[in-house]
Amino acid sequence: MLKREQFYYVKRLSLWKPLFFIYLIMLLSRLFVLCYYRQVNVKIGDKGGIEVTFERLGTMKTSQEGHLEIGGVDTIKLAEKYGTPLYVYDVALIRDRARGFKRTFEEMGITAQVAYASKAFSAIAIYQLMAEEGLSVDVVSGGELYTAIKAGFPAELIHFHGNNKTREEIEMALDYEIGCIVVDNFYEIDLLKTILSERQQKVSVLVRVTPGIEAHTHDYILTGQEDSKFGFGLDNGQAEKALQLLLQDSAYFDVKGLHCHIGSQIFETTGFKVAAHRVMDKLVEWRDAFGFKASVLNLGGGFGVRYTADDEPLEPAEYVRQIILEVKEVAQQNELAVPEIWIEPGRALVGEAGTTLYSIGSRKEVPGIRDYIAVDGGMNDNIRPALYDAKYEAVIANHPEKAAEETVSIAGKCCESGDMLIWDIPLPNMQSGEILAVFCTGAYGYAMASNYNRICRPAVVFVENGIDKLVVARETYDDLIQNDLSLF
Ligand SMILES: *Cc1c(COP(=O)(O)O)cnc(C)c1O
Repeated sequence: MLKREQFYYVKRLSLWKPLFFIYLIMLLSRLFVLCYYRQVNVKIGDKGGIEVTFERLGTMKTSQEGHLEIGGVDTIKLAEKYGTPLYVYDVALIRDRARGFKRTFEEMGITAQVAYASKAFSAIAIYQLMAEEGLSVDVVSGGELYTAIKAGFPAELIHFHGNNKTREEIEMALDYEIGCIVVDNFYEIDLLKTILSERQQKVSVLVRVTPGIEAHTHDYILTGQEDSKFGFGLDNGQAEKALQLLLQDSAYFDVKGLHCHIGSQIFETTGFKVAAHRVMDKLVEWRDAFGFKASVLNLGGGFGVRYTADDEPLEPAEYVRQIILEVKEVAQQNELAVPEIWIEPGRALVGEAGTTLYSIGSRKEVPGIRDYIAVDGGMNDNIRPALYDAKYEAVIANHPEKAAEETVSIAGKCCESGDMLIWDIPLPNMQSGEILAVFCTGAYGYAMASNYNRICRPAVVFVENGIDKLVVARETYDDLIQNDLSLF
Protein backbone atom coordinates (compact mmCIF):
# COMPACT_ATOMS: atom_id res chain seq x y z
CA MET A 1 0.00 0.00 0.00
CA LEU A 2 2.70 2.37 1.07
CA LYS A 3 4.65 1.73 -2.05
CA ARG A 4 1.69 2.53 -4.15
CA GLU A 5 1.01 5.80 -2.37
CA GLN A 6 4.60 6.78 -2.75
CA PHE A 7 4.42 6.02 -6.42
CA TYR A 8 1.43 8.29 -6.90
CA TYR A 9 3.02 10.94 -4.78
CA VAL A 10 6.17 10.93 -6.88
CA LYS A 11 4.11 10.97 -10.04
CA ARG A 12 2.06 13.88 -8.75
CA LEU A 13 5.16 15.78 -7.78
CA SER A 14 6.79 15.41 -11.16
CA LEU A 15 3.57 16.42 -12.95
CA TRP A 16 2.76 19.30 -10.68
CA LYS A 17 5.24 21.78 -12.07
CA PRO A 18 4.60 21.36 -15.78
CA LEU A 19 0.84 21.23 -15.18
CA PHE A 20 0.90 24.39 -13.17
CA PHE A 21 3.03 26.03 -15.82
CA ILE A 22 0.56 25.07 -18.56
CA TYR A 23 -2.30 26.30 -16.42
CA LEU A 24 -0.53 29.61 -15.91
CA ILE A 25 0.07 30.02 -19.63
CA MET A 26 -3.59 29.23 -20.37
CA LEU A 27 -4.68 31.75 -17.77
CA LEU A 28 -2.37 34.43 -19.14
CA SER A 29 -3.38 33.83 -22.75
CA ARG A 30 -7.02 34.01 -21.74
CA LEU A 31 -6.41 37.32 -20.00
CA PHE A 32 -4.60 38.53 -23.08
CA VAL A 33 -7.52 37.54 -25.30
CA LEU A 34 -9.96 39.21 -22.94
CA CYS A 35 -7.97 42.44 -23.01
CA TYR A 36 -7.88 42.47 -26.78
CA TYR A 37 -11.45 41.45 -27.21
CA ARG A 38 -13.47 44.31 -25.92
CA GLN A 39 -16.96 42.85 -26.13
CA VAL A 40 -18.81 42.51 -22.89
CA ASN A 41 -19.78 39.13 -21.65
CA VAL A 42 -23.16 39.36 -19.99
CA LYS A 43 -24.39 36.51 -17.92
CA ILE A 44 -28.05 36.28 -18.64
CA GLY A 45 -29.20 33.30 -16.76
CA ASP A 46 -28.33 30.87 -14.04
CA LYS A 47 -31.25 28.66 -13.30
CA GLY A 48 -31.58 25.00 -12.56
CA GLY A 49 -27.88 24.49 -13.11
CA ILE A 50 -28.09 25.91 -16.62
CA GLU A 51 -25.88 28.88 -17.12
CA VAL A 52 -25.95 30.98 -20.23
CA THR A 53 -23.79 33.79 -21.43
CA PHE A 54 -24.95 36.09 -24.14
CA GLU A 55 -22.04 37.78 -25.80
CA ARG A 56 -23.14 41.06 -27.28
CA LEU A 57 -21.44 41.64 -30.59
CA GLY A 58 -21.13 45.01 -32.26
CA THR A 59 -24.09 47.30 -31.57
CA MET A 60 -26.30 44.61 -30.03
CA LYS A 61 -28.19 45.61 -26.93
CA THR A 62 -31.46 45.13 -25.14
CA SER A 63 -34.06 47.72 -26.10
CA GLN A 64 -36.31 49.58 -23.65
CA GLU A 65 -39.04 47.05 -24.39
CA GLY A 66 -36.57 44.32 -23.40
CA HIS A 67 -36.10 43.09 -26.98
CA LEU A 68 -32.87 42.33 -28.79
CA GLU A 69 -31.78 45.43 -30.67
CA ILE A 70 -29.15 45.61 -33.43
CA GLY A 71 -27.93 48.81 -35.06
CA GLY A 72 -30.46 50.74 -33.00
CA VAL A 73 -33.35 48.74 -34.47
CA ASP A 74 -35.67 46.42 -32.54
CA THR A 75 -35.33 42.93 -34.03
CA ILE A 76 -38.94 42.05 -33.19
CA LYS A 77 -40.06 45.00 -35.32
CA LEU A 78 -37.72 43.83 -38.08
CA ALA A 79 -39.30 40.37 -37.99
CA GLU A 80 -42.78 41.92 -38.19
CA LYS A 81 -41.81 44.25 -41.03
CA TYR A 82 -39.84 41.85 -43.25
CA GLY A 83 -40.97 38.42 -42.09
CA THR A 84 -38.73 35.52 -41.09
CA PRO A 85 -36.26 33.96 -41.60
CA LEU A 86 -34.43 37.23 -41.89
CA TYR A 87 -30.73 37.96 -42.17
CA VAL A 88 -29.82 41.12 -40.25
CA TYR A 89 -26.38 42.75 -40.73
CA ASP A 90 -24.89 45.18 -38.22
CA VAL A 91 -23.29 47.64 -40.65
CA ALA A 92 -21.35 49.52 -37.95
CA LEU A 93 -19.60 46.29 -36.97
CA ILE A 94 -18.59 45.59 -40.57
CA ARG A 95 -17.21 49.13 -40.89
CA ASP A 96 -15.40 48.75 -37.60
CA ARG A 97 -13.70 45.56 -38.76
CA ALA A 98 -12.77 47.02 -42.15
CA ARG A 99 -11.27 50.10 -40.52
CA GLY A 100 -9.43 48.05 -37.93
CA PHE A 101 -7.62 46.06 -40.63
CA LYS A 102 -6.78 49.17 -42.66
CA ARG A 103 -5.64 51.17 -39.64
CA THR A 104 -3.18 48.47 -38.58
CA PHE A 105 -1.41 48.61 -41.93
CA GLU A 106 -1.35 52.41 -41.83
CA GLU A 107 0.01 52.49 -38.29
CA MET A 108 2.77 50.07 -39.21
CA GLY A 109 3.68 51.95 -42.37
CA ILE A 110 2.80 49.18 -44.82
CA THR A 111 1.20 49.75 -48.20
CA ALA A 112 -1.69 47.34 -48.28
CA GLN A 113 -4.91 46.19 -49.83
CA VAL A 114 -7.58 44.70 -47.61
CA ALA A 115 -9.65 42.61 -49.99
CA TYR A 116 -13.03 41.37 -48.81
CA ALA A 117 -13.35 37.69 -49.79
CA SER A 118 -16.85 38.16 -51.14
CA LYS A 119 -17.72 34.47 -51.28
CA ALA A 120 -18.57 34.91 -47.56
CA PHE A 121 -21.59 37.03 -48.54
CA SER A 122 -22.07 38.32 -52.04
CA ALA A 123 -24.78 40.88 -52.82
CA ILE A 124 -24.85 44.31 -54.45
CA ALA A 125 -25.11 46.13 -51.11
CA ILE A 126 -22.13 44.47 -49.48
CA TYR A 127 -19.87 45.36 -52.43
CA GLN A 128 -21.10 48.95 -52.14
CA LEU A 129 -20.41 48.99 -48.42
CA MET A 130 -16.89 47.62 -48.95
CA ALA A 131 -16.28 50.24 -51.65
CA GLU A 132 -17.40 52.93 -49.21
CA GLU A 133 -14.80 51.64 -46.75
CA GLY A 134 -12.07 51.69 -49.39
CA LEU A 135 -11.58 47.93 -49.47
CA SER A 136 -10.74 45.75 -52.45
CA VAL A 137 -12.68 42.54 -53.14
CA ASP A 138 -11.95 38.98 -54.19
CA VAL A 139 -14.30 37.18 -56.53
CA VAL A 140 -14.18 33.51 -57.40
CA SER A 141 -16.70 33.26 -60.21
CA GLY A 142 -18.29 35.17 -63.07
CA GLY A 143 -21.37 35.58 -60.90
CA GLU A 144 -19.52 37.27 -58.06
CA LEU A 145 -17.63 39.42 -60.58
CA TYR A 146 -20.89 40.41 -62.27
CA THR A 147 -22.47 41.33 -58.94
CA ALA A 148 -19.46 43.46 -57.95
CA ILE A 149 -19.45 45.28 -61.28
CA LYS A 150 -23.23 45.86 -61.12
CA ALA A 151 -22.69 47.28 -57.63
CA GLY A 152 -20.37 49.86 -59.19
CA PHE A 153 -17.34 48.40 -57.45
CA PRO A 154 -14.08 49.82 -58.91
CA ALA A 155 -12.82 47.15 -61.33
CA GLU A 156 -9.17 47.88 -60.58
CA LEU A 157 -9.73 46.78 -56.98
CA ILE A 158 -11.20 43.39 -57.91
CA HIS A 159 -9.04 40.26 -57.67
CA PHE A 160 -10.12 37.08 -59.42
CA HIS A 161 -9.49 33.72 -57.75
CA GLY A 162 -10.36 30.15 -58.58
CA ASN A 163 -8.84 26.82 -59.54
CA ASN A 164 -10.89 26.43 -62.71
CA LYS A 165 -11.67 29.80 -64.23
CA THR A 166 -13.46 29.30 -67.53
CA ARG A 167 -12.60 31.06 -70.77
CA GLU A 168 -15.82 33.08 -70.44
CA GLU A 169 -14.94 34.15 -66.90
CA ILE A 170 -11.41 35.15 -67.91
CA GLU A 171 -12.71 37.14 -70.87
CA MET A 172 -15.22 38.86 -68.65
CA ALA A 173 -12.46 39.80 -66.19
CA LEU A 174 -10.34 41.13 -69.06
CA ASP A 175 -13.28 43.07 -70.52
CA TYR A 176 -13.80 44.82 -67.19
CA GLU A 177 -10.03 45.32 -66.77
CA ILE A 178 -10.05 44.09 -63.18
CA GLY A 179 -7.09 44.65 -60.82
CA CYS A 180 -5.48 41.25 -60.95
CA ILE A 181 -5.93 37.59 -61.64
CA VAL A 182 -4.59 35.12 -59.11
CA VAL A 183 -3.12 32.40 -61.31
CA ASP A 184 -3.75 28.96 -59.89
CA ASN A 185 -2.38 26.25 -62.23
CA PHE A 186 -0.50 25.51 -65.46
CA TYR A 187 -3.69 24.99 -67.45
CA GLU A 188 -4.73 28.49 -66.50
CA ILE A 189 -1.38 29.95 -67.57
CA ASP A 190 -1.82 28.41 -71.04
CA LEU A 191 -5.43 29.51 -71.31
CA LEU A 192 -4.64 33.04 -70.17
CA LYS A 193 -1.77 33.29 -72.61
CA THR A 194 -3.96 32.20 -75.51
CA ILE A 195 -6.70 34.65 -74.64
CA LEU A 196 -4.30 37.54 -73.96
CA SER A 197 -2.48 37.02 -77.24
CA GLU A 198 -5.80 36.94 -79.13
CA ARG A 199 -6.77 40.20 -77.50
CA GLN A 200 -3.28 41.71 -77.39
CA GLN A 201 -3.92 42.60 -73.76
CA LYS A 202 -1.77 42.54 -70.64
CA VAL A 203 -2.94 41.65 -67.12
CA SER A 204 -1.54 41.88 -63.60
CA VAL A 205 -1.19 38.53 -61.90
CA LEU A 206 -0.31 37.00 -58.57
CA VAL A 207 0.97 33.43 -58.43
CA ARG A 208 -0.94 31.33 -55.93
CA VAL A 209 1.44 29.11 -53.99
CA THR A 210 0.85 26.42 -51.38
CA PRO A 211 3.48 26.88 -48.73
CA GLY A 212 3.00 23.50 -47.08
CA ILE A 213 0.99 24.76 -44.13
CA GLU A 214 -2.48 23.72 -43.26
CA ALA A 215 -3.93 25.85 -40.53
CA HIS A 216 -6.94 24.85 -38.48
CA THR A 217 -8.75 26.57 -35.71
CA HIS A 218 -6.35 25.62 -32.95
CA ASP A 219 -3.30 24.26 -34.69
CA TYR A 220 -1.43 24.09 -37.93
CA ILE A 221 0.24 21.27 -39.79
CA LEU A 222 3.40 21.53 -41.84
CA THR A 223 3.02 19.34 -44.89
CA GLY A 224 6.18 18.82 -46.86
CA GLN A 225 4.47 17.79 -50.03
CA GLU A 226 1.45 19.69 -51.15
CA ASP A 227 -1.96 18.06 -51.26
CA SER A 228 -4.33 20.80 -52.25
CA LYS A 229 -6.43 21.49 -55.32
CA PHE A 230 -5.26 25.11 -55.18
CA GLY A 231 -2.05 26.71 -56.34
CA PHE A 232 1.51 25.76 -57.13
CA GLY A 233 3.64 23.84 -54.63
CA LEU A 234 6.30 26.07 -53.15
CA ASP A 235 8.66 23.23 -52.31
CA ASN A 236 8.27 20.92 -55.29
CA GLY A 237 9.46 23.39 -57.91
CA GLN A 238 6.00 24.05 -59.41
CA ALA A 239 5.79 27.60 -58.10
CA GLU A 240 9.17 28.48 -59.54
CA LYS A 241 8.28 26.94 -62.89
CA ALA A 242 5.00 28.88 -62.99
CA LEU A 243 6.79 32.10 -62.15
CA GLN A 244 9.34 31.55 -64.91
CA LEU A 245 6.61 30.85 -67.46
CA LEU A 246 4.81 34.06 -66.52
CA LEU A 247 7.99 36.14 -66.47
CA GLN A 248 8.90 34.88 -69.96
CA ASP A 249 5.72 36.35 -71.34
CA SER A 250 6.14 39.86 -70.08
CA ALA A 251 4.09 41.16 -73.00
CA TYR A 252 1.02 39.56 -71.42
CA PHE A 253 1.76 39.21 -67.73
CA ASP A 254 2.73 41.78 -65.16
CA VAL A 255 3.75 39.51 -62.27
CA LYS A 256 3.02 41.46 -59.09
CA GLY A 257 3.94 38.80 -56.60
CA LEU A 258 2.73 35.77 -54.69
CA HIS A 259 -0.46 34.70 -53.01
CA CYS A 260 -1.14 32.10 -50.36
CA HIS A 261 -4.14 31.22 -48.20
CA ILE A 262 -3.61 28.67 -45.47
CA GLY A 263 -7.10 27.93 -44.18
CA SER A 264 -10.14 29.30 -42.39
CA GLN A 265 -11.39 30.09 -38.91
CA ILE A 266 -7.82 30.24 -37.58
CA PHE A 267 -7.20 31.54 -34.05
CA GLU A 268 -3.45 31.14 -33.72
CA THR A 269 -1.04 33.56 -35.34
CA THR A 270 1.66 30.91 -35.78
CA GLY A 271 0.30 29.48 -39.04
CA PHE A 272 0.21 32.93 -40.64
CA LYS A 273 3.70 33.72 -39.43
CA VAL A 274 5.17 30.45 -40.67
CA ALA A 275 3.48 30.94 -44.05
CA ALA A 276 4.73 34.52 -44.34
CA HIS A 277 8.21 33.35 -43.44
CA ARG A 278 8.26 30.54 -45.98
CA VAL A 279 6.99 32.72 -48.79
CA MET A 280 9.40 35.54 -47.93
CA ASP A 281 12.29 33.05 -47.92
CA LYS A 282 11.30 32.04 -51.45
CA LEU A 283 11.24 35.66 -52.54
CA VAL A 284 14.78 36.04 -51.25
CA GLU A 285 15.82 32.84 -53.06
CA TRP A 286 14.26 33.95 -56.36
CA ARG A 287 15.72 37.42 -56.10
CA ASP A 288 19.16 35.90 -55.72
CA ALA A 289 18.63 33.25 -58.39
CA PHE A 290 17.05 35.34 -61.14
CA GLY A 291 16.44 38.83 -59.91
CA PHE A 292 12.70 38.50 -59.34
CA LYS A 293 11.25 41.45 -57.46
CA ALA A 294 7.81 40.96 -55.94
CA SER A 295 5.89 44.13 -55.24
CA VAL A 296 2.97 42.29 -53.59
CA LEU A 297 2.65 39.55 -51.02
CA ASN A 298 -0.94 38.40 -50.54
CA LEU A 299 -1.37 36.29 -47.41
CA GLY A 300 -5.03 35.43 -47.82
CA GLY A 301 -7.74 35.34 -45.17
CA GLY A 302 -8.93 32.88 -42.57
CA PHE A 303 -8.89 35.05 -39.44
CA GLY A 304 -11.11 33.39 -36.86
CA VAL A 305 -14.33 34.76 -35.39
CA ARG A 306 -16.41 33.99 -32.33
CA TYR A 307 -19.32 31.64 -32.99
CA THR A 308 -19.70 30.43 -29.42
CA ALA A 309 -18.13 30.99 -26.02
CA ASP A 310 -15.63 28.23 -26.85
CA ASP A 311 -14.10 30.41 -29.57
CA GLU A 312 -11.56 32.95 -28.44
CA PRO A 313 -10.19 34.76 -31.46
CA LEU A 314 -7.73 37.60 -31.19
CA GLU A 315 -8.68 41.10 -32.16
CA PRO A 316 -8.65 40.85 -36.00
CA ALA A 317 -5.95 43.50 -36.34
CA GLU A 318 -3.64 41.42 -34.14
CA TYR A 319 -3.25 38.78 -36.89
CA VAL A 320 -2.23 41.53 -39.27
CA ARG A 321 0.27 42.95 -36.82
CA GLN A 322 1.97 39.57 -36.41
CA ILE A 323 2.10 39.00 -40.18
CA ILE A 324 3.65 42.43 -40.77
CA LEU A 325 6.30 41.89 -38.10
CA GLU A 326 7.28 38.56 -39.65
CA VAL A 327 7.49 39.99 -43.19
CA LYS A 328 9.50 42.98 -42.00
CA GLU A 329 11.93 40.76 -40.13
CA VAL A 330 12.72 38.50 -43.08
CA ALA A 331 12.95 41.54 -45.37
CA GLN A 332 15.39 43.29 -43.08
CA GLN A 333 17.58 40.23 -42.56
CA ASN A 334 17.93 39.81 -46.30
CA GLU A 335 17.91 43.42 -47.45
CA LEU A 336 14.75 42.78 -49.41
CA ALA A 337 12.32 45.66 -50.00
CA VAL A 338 9.18 45.14 -47.89
CA PRO A 339 6.44 44.30 -50.40
CA GLU A 340 2.88 45.57 -50.28
CA ILE A 341 0.92 43.20 -48.07
CA TRP A 342 -2.56 42.23 -49.16
CA ILE A 343 -5.00 40.25 -47.05
CA GLU A 344 -8.38 38.70 -47.83
CA PRO A 345 -10.65 38.46 -44.81
CA GLY A 346 -14.14 37.13 -45.47
CA ARG A 347 -15.55 35.75 -42.25
CA ALA A 348 -13.73 38.30 -40.05
CA LEU A 349 -15.45 41.18 -41.85
CA VAL A 350 -19.04 39.93 -42.00
CA GLY A 351 -19.40 36.82 -39.83
CA GLU A 352 -20.14 38.32 -36.44
CA ALA A 353 -22.11 41.17 -38.02
CA GLY A 354 -24.84 38.78 -39.19
CA THR A 355 -27.75 37.54 -37.09
CA THR A 356 -30.58 35.35 -38.37
CA LEU A 357 -34.10 35.83 -37.03
CA TYR A 358 -36.45 32.85 -37.13
CA SER A 359 -40.02 32.36 -35.97
CA ILE A 360 -40.45 29.55 -33.51
CA GLY A 361 -42.98 26.94 -34.62
CA SER A 362 -43.58 23.36 -33.61
CA ARG A 363 -42.25 21.46 -30.64
CA LYS A 364 -41.62 17.76 -30.38
CA GLU A 365 -40.81 16.17 -27.06
CA VAL A 366 -38.99 12.86 -27.10
CA PRO A 367 -39.44 11.71 -23.50
CA GLY A 368 -36.17 11.19 -21.71
CA ILE A 369 -34.13 12.14 -24.77
CA ARG A 370 -34.58 15.66 -26.02
CA ASP A 371 -37.03 18.36 -27.05
CA TYR A 372 -36.94 19.60 -30.60
CA ILE A 373 -38.03 23.15 -31.31
CA ALA A 374 -38.53 23.81 -35.01
CA VAL A 375 -38.04 27.17 -36.69
CA ASP A 376 -39.14 28.44 -40.11
CA GLY A 377 -35.66 28.16 -41.65
CA GLY A 378 -32.76 25.76 -41.32
CA MET A 379 -30.28 24.22 -43.71
CA ASN A 380 -31.73 26.28 -46.55
CA ASP A 381 -30.42 29.49 -45.05
CA ASN A 382 -27.58 28.03 -42.98
CA ILE A 383 -26.09 24.74 -44.05
CA ARG A 384 -22.99 25.09 -41.87
CA PRO A 385 -24.25 22.97 -38.93
CA ALA A 386 -25.17 20.14 -41.31
CA LEU A 387 -22.05 20.54 -43.45
CA TYR A 388 -19.34 21.25 -40.91
CA ASP A 389 -21.00 20.47 -37.60
CA ALA A 390 -20.74 24.22 -36.95
CA LYS A 391 -21.90 25.50 -33.56
CA TYR A 392 -24.00 28.57 -32.88
CA GLU A 393 -25.45 30.52 -29.99
CA ALA A 394 -28.92 31.99 -29.87
CA VAL A 395 -31.34 33.95 -27.73
CA ILE A 396 -35.05 34.58 -27.76
CA ALA A 397 -35.13 38.06 -29.30
CA ASN A 398 -38.33 38.88 -27.38
CA HIS A 399 -36.43 38.69 -24.09
CA PRO A 400 -32.71 38.05 -24.58
CA GLU A 401 -31.89 38.62 -20.92
CA LYS A 402 -34.30 36.03 -19.58
CA ALA A 403 -32.75 33.16 -17.68
CA ALA A 404 -32.52 29.76 -19.33
CA GLU A 405 -35.08 27.24 -18.10
CA GLU A 406 -34.52 24.19 -20.27
CA THR A 407 -32.19 22.65 -22.80
CA VAL A 408 -33.64 22.18 -26.26
CA SER A 409 -32.44 21.46 -29.80
CA ILE A 410 -33.27 23.79 -32.65
CA ALA A 411 -34.43 22.04 -35.82
CA GLY A 412 -34.97 23.35 -39.32
CA LYS A 413 -38.02 22.64 -41.46
CA CYS A 414 -36.39 20.62 -44.25
CA CYS A 415 -37.02 16.96 -44.95
CA GLU A 416 -33.62 15.92 -43.64
CA SER A 417 -32.87 14.57 -40.19
CA GLY A 418 -29.54 16.37 -40.41
CA ASP A 419 -31.34 19.69 -40.75
CA MET A 420 -30.53 20.92 -37.27
CA LEU A 421 -29.32 24.41 -36.40
CA ILE A 422 -28.26 23.96 -32.78
CA TRP A 423 -28.07 20.84 -30.62
CA ASP A 424 -28.73 21.14 -26.88
CA ILE A 425 -28.88 24.83 -26.17
CA PRO A 426 -30.11 26.22 -22.84
CA LEU A 427 -32.92 28.72 -23.42
CA PRO A 428 -35.90 30.11 -21.52
CA ASN A 429 -39.25 28.41 -22.15
CA MET A 430 -40.52 29.64 -25.45
CA GLN A 431 -43.80 30.12 -27.22
CA SER A 432 -44.58 29.50 -30.86
CA GLY A 433 -44.41 32.80 -32.67
CA GLU A 434 -41.56 34.16 -30.61
CA ILE A 435 -38.39 35.10 -32.45
CA LEU A 436 -35.17 33.13 -32.16
CA ALA A 437 -32.02 35.12 -32.97
CA VAL A 438 -29.03 33.00 -34.03
CA PHE A 439 -25.73 34.89 -33.82
CA CYS A 440 -22.70 35.07 -36.07
CA THR A 441 -24.40 33.91 -39.25
CA GLY A 442 -23.01 36.66 -41.50
CA ALA A 443 -20.43 34.56 -43.33
CA TYR A 444 -21.19 31.53 -45.53
CA GLY A 445 -24.83 31.60 -44.45
CA TYR A 446 -26.85 33.41 -47.07
CA ALA A 447 -23.97 32.78 -49.50
CA MET A 448 -24.60 29.02 -49.27
CA ALA A 449 -28.40 29.27 -49.10
CA SER A 450 -30.39 26.94 -51.31
CA ASN A 451 -33.92 26.31 -52.47
CA TYR A 452 -33.97 22.69 -51.33
CA ASN A 453 -37.58 21.62 -50.71
CA ARG A 454 -38.47 24.68 -52.81
CA ILE A 455 -38.14 26.94 -49.84
CA CYS A 456 -37.70 30.63 -50.68
CA ARG A 457 -34.41 32.18 -49.64
CA PRO A 458 -34.77 34.76 -46.87
CA ALA A 459 -34.54 38.53 -47.11
CA VAL A 460 -31.43 40.41 -45.98
CA VAL A 461 -31.60 43.71 -44.17
CA PHE A 462 -28.82 46.13 -43.18
CA VAL A 463 -29.25 48.07 -39.94
CA GLU A 464 -27.26 51.10 -38.83
CA ASN A 465 -27.96 54.08 -36.55
CA GLY A 466 -31.60 53.17 -36.06
CA ILE A 467 -32.29 52.74 -39.78
CA ASP A 468 -33.13 49.47 -41.52
CA LYS A 469 -32.60 48.96 -45.22
CA LEU A 470 -33.72 45.94 -47.20
CA VAL A 471 -30.76 44.86 -49.36
CA VAL A 472 -31.91 41.47 -50.65
CA ALA A 473 -35.63 40.89 -51.13
CA ARG A 474 -37.21 37.66 -49.94
CA GLU A 475 -37.63 35.19 -52.79
CA THR A 476 -41.15 34.56 -53.97
CA TYR A 477 -42.79 31.39 -55.29
CA ASP A 478 -42.64 32.96 -58.74
CA ASP A 479 -38.87 33.39 -58.35
CA LEU A 480 -38.70 29.68 -57.65
CA ILE A 481 -40.32 28.71 -60.94
CA GLN A 482 -38.96 31.49 -63.13
CA ASN A 483 -36.53 29.20 -64.96
CA ASP A 484 -38.84 26.18 -65.11
CA LEU A 485 -40.26 25.46 -68.55
CA SER A 486 -43.58 23.74 -69.11
CA LEU A 487 -43.70 20.38 -70.81
CA PHE A 488 -46.85 21.42 -72.65
C1 LIG B 1 -12.16 31.60 -48.55
C2 LIG B 1 -10.97 32.40 -48.88
C3 LIG B 1 -10.71 33.56 -48.16
C4 LIG B 1 -11.55 34.02 -46.98
O1 LIG B 1 -11.53 33.13 -45.94
P1 LIG B 1 -12.21 33.57 -44.52
O2 LIG B 1 -12.02 32.38 -43.68
O3 LIG B 1 -13.64 33.86 -44.80
O4 LIG B 1 -11.47 34.78 -44.07
C5 LIG B 1 -9.64 34.33 -48.53
N1 LIG B 1 -8.84 33.96 -49.59
C6 LIG B 1 -9.07 32.84 -50.30
C7 LIG B 1 -8.18 32.51 -51.43
C8 LIG B 1 -10.13 32.03 -49.97
O5 LIG B 1 -10.34 30.90 -50.67
